[in-house]
Amino acid sequence: SNIKPADSIQTTCPYCGVGCGVAATPSEVTGDKRHPANQGQLCVKGSALHDTLVPAGRLLKPRIEGEERSWPEALAAVCGAIRDAVDQHGPGSVALYLSGQLLTEDYYVANKLAKGFIGTPHVDTNSRLCMSSAVAAHKRAFGEDCVPGCYEDLELADLLVLAGSNTAWAHPVLYQRMQASQRAGRRVVVIDPRRTATADLADLHLKLKPGTDTVLFNGLLVWLSQHGATNPDYIAKHCSGFEETLACALEVAPSVASVAAQCDLAGHEVEQFYRWYADTPRTVTTFSQGVNQSAAGTDNCNAIFNCHLATGRVGKPGASPFSLTGQPNAMGGREVGGLANTLAAHMEYDTPGARERLAGFWGTDRLPEAPGFKAVELFEAVHRGDIKVLWIMGTNPAVSLPDSARVCEALAACPTVIVSDCMANTDTTAFANILLPAAGWGEKDGTVTNSERCISRQRSFLPLTSEARPDWQILTSVARELGHAQAFQYQRPADIFREHAMLSALACKASDGRQVFDIGVLAQLTDAQYNQLEPVQWPVSMGAAGDVTGTPRLFSDGRFATDNGRARMVPISAGLPCQVVTSRYPLVVNTGRIRDQWHSMTRTALVSRLLTHRQEPSIEIHPDDALHYGITDGTLCQLTGPGPEAFLGRARLTADQRPGEVFIPIHWSGCFASQSVATNLIAAVTDPISGQPESKHGIASLSSL
Ligand code: SF4
Repeated sequence: SNIKPADSIQTTCPYCGVGCGVAATPSEVTGDKRHPANQGQLCVKGSALHDTLVPAGRLLKPRIEGEERSWPEALAAVCGAIRDAVDQHGPGSVALYLSGQLLTEDYYVANKLAKGFIGTPHVDTNSRLCMSSAVAAHKRAFGEDCVPGCYEDLELADLLVLAGSNTAWAHPVLYQRMQASQRAGRRVVVIDPRRTATADLADLHLKLKPGTDTVLFNGLLVWLSQHGATNPDYIAKHCSGFEETLACALEVAPSVASVAAQCDLAGHEVEQFYRWYADTPRTVTTFSQGVNQSAAGTDNCNAIFNCHLATGRVGKPGASPFSLTGQPNAMGGREVGGLANTLAAHMEYDTPGARERLAGFWGTDRLPEAPGFKAVELFEAVHRGDIKVLWIMGTNPAVSLPDSARVCEALAACPTVIVSDCMANTDTTAFANILLPAAGWGEKDGTVTNSERCISRQRSFLPLTSEARPDWQILTSVARELGHAQAFQYQRPADIFREHAMLSALACKASDGRQVFDIGVLAQLTDAQYNQLEPVQWPVSMGAAGDVTGTPRLFSDGRFATDNGRARMVPISAGLPCQVVTSRYPLVVNTGRIRDQWHSMTRTALVSRLLTHRQEPSIEIHPDDALHYGITDGTLCQLTGPGPEAFLGRARLTADQRPGEVFIPIHWSGCFASQSVATNLIAAVTDPISGQPESKHGIASLSSL
């Protein structure tokens, strides 16, 4: 509130995982030229951020059963519900569902309160829907959840493979960086069932059959091996499992002809991709939701990693696999343990000594003994009645989880639903018994970590709206009122960050230096240094002069975070989609983002110019299918799947689609278009390892209205 309007504050964009730096005032935002992620660029969503800073729709005061109440009353209601549930049904009857929109400090306190002091393991996050398959695959291959490369690698690559990623729309500034990189002879291969805007950059577009990624990459491993294009020295020194992995790949994808037939591609296209990959030491494979959101998501990622390991292309300039995270702080949430299957600071439940170490650090004897429910399981537990108190923060599961009708049933039946949000009316706030007004972007203060492990400050430049409070503060108040004041002495975000950093140091030390996530030196930051913290990639070290240094690349020396220091190659069988078309539901439904909207539109729909690109829900369909169904461009149509609700949208005829497959946007929610919720067509089918839903492969029938 002391800030003069003309002063701009360096902060970060709250939308996607690129994590662009923003110079912001209440009336203007520009790209922060000093931020390494974007170097001054912003996409259309980021450039409109100041227009979202409006009071319209904000949740201003706490509410209990729809009535405005004071903060002390609301906090007493929250604590009363948690106490009653724990007393009557045990700590596992309480669950928290968090969000990649939360800052790391918010996430840390939520995880500590839930696992450490309420004693429930059921803490999961909407990041489960976004990158949990990549997380699981990183752990399997490298021993820890680590993205080995950095954004610069996307510019240094001589071969850029973009798998299941419409980067042009979902990570636009990164796409701009790829476009601007004019390396002589650089080639781009796009692997996607649709011809997206990203394919404009492609020298080769592999328009493969959805869900056949494991076949394509197993085939690549076979081809590399048969053509002497693996790196035997690297494999011998730094990998385990090569022989078994190759044997499995040979069964799945013995030849180019077999791959072409299974992936529905031309043999010469497959061969071209394999040859370029073999010939190009500087290869980066970037992947995103098209790979992750699959019943074989973890296997998809590991099939990609296997090829990089077999060629020794990990953690080297212009040579790495690279997972693009969807949300601004998906990685920060992973760092603190915001996923139900992890503890904290990259320690797992089965990390030897980790529970005892964490219990000692937090000063608690309540830590759960085993992992909790992952997102889809969690809402199923709510539906069964096992969860009595569900606290949802900064996310809209009523429309973002698969089988949204069932999720809504679960929310309606849950005895106490607490929702912390900055917006008053979302599909999820409609189910809240207790509503808590949270600070929004511009008011929040803390840190986020983007896709390249870069920690940046998100700074406040606006006073809090009405009675809104930062999430960490709400959580701290609840912890204190529940009787845990001694462990929640935080006065400001810097206090939390220092504790988080200290815990990472403890975890690293106990792992004999194997653990990569280490920000221990940042535990020494003063408040002033925290406020001025420049973007830095973990692991972080400190020079003699107190200068903080980040690490752009990991595992460059071939030493990984596994027990024996070797990367694990994982045999991957053909992981085809679980939901298959039938004569009743003959169309495959693909879901995804459109260029100018973010998630369920609670913010981006506030800006009219962001609605001009796509004004209404659509169903993209191949002209041959349109002819078959008697549909013309603009016809209002309905997709009906096995679930109870349909999806309504206007037909957009485009040969960018493969015949037999349709694409629908994920953004419209019950608040904007109640009959156009994409998750109505997505069944609650998940990857058995990561728990990530198969959001790219629904099934439906089509009719015109
Ligand atoms: Fe924000 Fe992502 Fe756009 Fe950057 S690319 S401005 S982080 S939405």
